[in-house]
Amino acid sequence: MNFVFPPHPTVSIEVSGSNDRFPVRRIYCVGRNYAEHVREMGHDDREPPFFFQKPADAIVANGGEFPYPPKSDNVHHEIELVVAIGKGGKDIPVDKALDHIFGYAVGIDMTRRDLQGEAKKMGRPWDVGKAFDHAAPCAAIVPVEKIGHPDKGSIWIKVNGEMKQDGDLSEQIWNVQEALSYLSGLFELVPGDLIYTGTPAGVGPVVKGDVMEGGIEGIGEIKITVV
Ligand code: MN
Repeated sequence: MNFVFPPHPTVSIEVSGSNDRFPVRRIYCVGRNYAEHVREMGHDDREPPFFFQKPADAIVANGGEFPYPPKSDNVHHEIELVVAIGKGGKDIPVDKALDHIFGYAVGIDMTRRDLQGEAKKMGRPWDVGKAFDHAAPCAAIVPVEKIGHPDKGSIWIKVNGEMKQDGDLSEQIWNVQEALSYLSGLFELVPGDLIYTGTPAGVGPVVKGDVMEGGIEGIGEIKITVV
């Protein structure tokens, strides 16, 4: 059997302190998971969690470049805690959810806010706003064996040195266990899946030439340049 063209290489992310790499299968994202951000977007903060996806090949490595996407004049940064699944499952109970996590990373859910806004207004899917090329910068994955399961600590992002988002993991409406458990009731989770767990308040636009530097206490930092 031959492929009609060479298969695309597996997308993977560096594992901190190791030569091994984490192969990425799917990228799930949690919407509206920090109360203050939910309110800044004009919504009620007591809704159940909901999810959208980005393609695995939207990953951009730490230190890399984010090409400003076409057809948008309003592209936002959303700094997020990323959960890397190491053990699959479905209908995972909340009290078993942490056992399925390989590690954590700092990611940015890049968003074409104008196209997302149009989609919302027209009742259309969010793909053009969320799932575009290079929309998922993600730094090295830090294994649980090194850092445990961070459930509090600062999560922040600066643009050109100016603080834009400055929250705390403890402000998540649905914590990691709850979001993972809920998601596993909708999709069977598989090793290699990533979950971007939502962003704190302070989202805002970037333009070409901007440097985004973000971090999460106890996990690490990410630096991405908009080109
Ligand atoms: Mn987000």
